[in-house]
Amino acid sequence: MLSLKNINKSFTNGKEKNHVLKDIDITIEDGEFVSIMGHSGSGKSTLLNIIGLLDRQFLGEYMLNGIDTHTLDKKSFTNFRNKNVGWVFQNFKLIHNMTVADNVGLPLLYQGKSTREIREIVENTLNKVGILDKANELPKMLSGGQQQRVAIARAIVTNPNILIADEPTGALDSATTVEIMDVFKNLNVMGTTLIIVTHDVLVGGQADRMIKVLDGKIIGTNYEI
Ligand code: ADP
Ligand code: MG
Repeated sequence: MLSLKNINKSFTNGKEKNHVLKDIDITIEDGEFVSIMGHSGSGKSTLLNIIGLLDRQFLGEYMLNGIDTHTLDKKSFTNFRNKNVGWVFQNFKLIHNMTVADNVGLPLLYQGKSTREIREIVENTLNKVGILDKANELPKMLSGGQQQRVAIARAIVTNPNILIADEPTGALDSATTVEIMDVFKNLNVMGTTLIIVTHDVLVGGQADRMIKVLDGKIIGTNYEI
């Protein structure tokens, strides 16, 4: 379970202070599929970076799996992220001169797993997202949807309990969006907590719960609006 209490975040540029997140309270239970929706510039990515443990410069309390994230030093914070969270981005962020299998295996290499272990886990994971046949290709040989499957495989290869995605279908056409959402939803049905930021209501509307953000404030969930 994760809970954010009274989260505030500002960016300062010289004398200008931009108060981006204002008094955010969110609780997400294990296994939920939650979407965070709002206009461009409303603070969705800023909020997601906090939830996904990329950013720890904020005010307020963030508890994840019973740990107060502010109590972790920099190294423990990174380890905690690697253990608990898988990240997927709009533009895939694959390494272009590495094969699909090597991209997906990279987090396992960092964990110090053996080549044989890595090969087996990577094959299973590529199979789960339907692109085992692309294992030895370079990312540039793949379509956008296939590249996003690779990115999802890399995000789940370490078995995190939370999958976080920032506009994961933003670079995909509508048919491919449907396919990628099916991949996400299957992972969620298997137990992974899924948190997706999107401004596409066809994507966000598929979640169990939709959190709406406007100008850095939560203005409601789909239970309320
Ligand atoms: P969204 O993802 O909803 O489009 P963001 O969270 O990216 O919105 O941005 C919200 C606000 O925070 C914007 O005004 C943006 O300019 C500002 N912002 C985001 N990231 C930074 C940063 N690294 N430094 C300074 N300002 C930032
Ligand atoms: Mg954004």
